[in-house]
Amino acid sequence: MNDARDRREFARRVPKAEIHLHLEGSVELGTLLRLVRARGEPAGSEVRARLAALYSHRDFPDFLQNFRRLCAEIRQPEDLALIVSDLSRRLQEQNVRYAEVFCSPIIFRRALGLPAAEIMDAVSGAARRRQRDGGPRLRFLLDGVRQFGIAGMEDVVTDASVCRKYDVIGVGMGGDERAMPTAEFAGPYREARRAGLRTTVHAGEFDGPRSVWEAIEVLEAERIGHGVRAVEDSELVHALKTRGVPLECCPTSNVKTGTVRDWEDHPIKVLHHAGVAVTVNSDDPALFGTSLLDEWDLLMTRLGLTPVETLAVGVQTARSTFLPDAEREALVDVMLRAAREAGVGA
Ligand SMILES: [Zn+2]
Repeated sequence: MNDARDRREFARRVPKAEIHLHLEGSVELGTLLRLVRARGEPAGSEVRARLAALYSHRDFPDFLQNFRRLCAEIRQPEDLALIVSDLSRRLQEQNVRYAEVFCSPIIFRRALGLPAAEIMDAVSGAARRRQRDGGPRLRFLLDGVRQFGIAGMEDVVTDASVCRKYDVIGVGMGGDERAMPTAEFAGPYREARRAGLRTTVHAGEFDGPRSVWEAIEVLEAERIGHGVRAVEDSELVHALKTRGVPLECCPTSNVKTGTVRDWEDHPIKVLHHAGVAVTVNSDDPALFGTSLLDEWDLLMTRLGLTPVETLAVGVQTARSTFLPDAEREALVDVMLRAAREAGVGA
């Protein structure tokens, strides 16, 4: 499979899963302009230029600021319903069958006083309507913001517990990794586990291996968002492998925020060869100008994985979902069957 078109076709034909994808980071410029127009505001060239500027980032702090400014354009639950419908359509076009999507109602609660249940009612309703029209199945992880502190994360856990009927299955935490040590959040994560919520946390993206150690030992997180800086600590790599803790890798995101210098420097291949359960995801596809299909493509081109290795990472992504065992294996089966039909795998 040397031809770029063949690789793309293979990546498209295989049904896919994604487990690290932020709803608010999936808003395309066109959708954002529709939101502005829908609330009766002018969307002339000046507004357009201001909003278009949110899609390029100098570094991680600049990205966080763009993310915040984009969220400030989201004003009501219906806006997020429109955003999730658009995301669902794009995932369907890429042959993504299942995704666990981060959503941060805490941001809108703080800015606008919107209750999480109202937001998630609108979001899950729109996602289910799309699923009835052939869209992917979407379930949600409420994402905390590290800078909001422990009380903020406690609110996220409470919100997630009351939003289960809206397809919320767990919690995560993003934001500025250097704002507060990971271990400080032991309390809310203990409470999340006690409530039967699934857990993941962004760590080892901007902070070093220590944050990943704290995520697995203190927070007992089931998965790690990014976690790529684990590669700096061989003992940690060994621990991730033996404990089977998956890393939610997002290569383009890491390049665009400066975590790694270039795609060729990304440690996903090294970690995969070391036996760590690495997965592939798009993170904030609109803000980083990528898609899951692009990420599969990049694995086979700039990141140096063979199609068989790429399939293994894709299958690992499906196996790392929080789906019940039988559904997870059913998804893996359709992936492997489609890959065989495309000439990859035994
Ligand atoms: Zn993320």
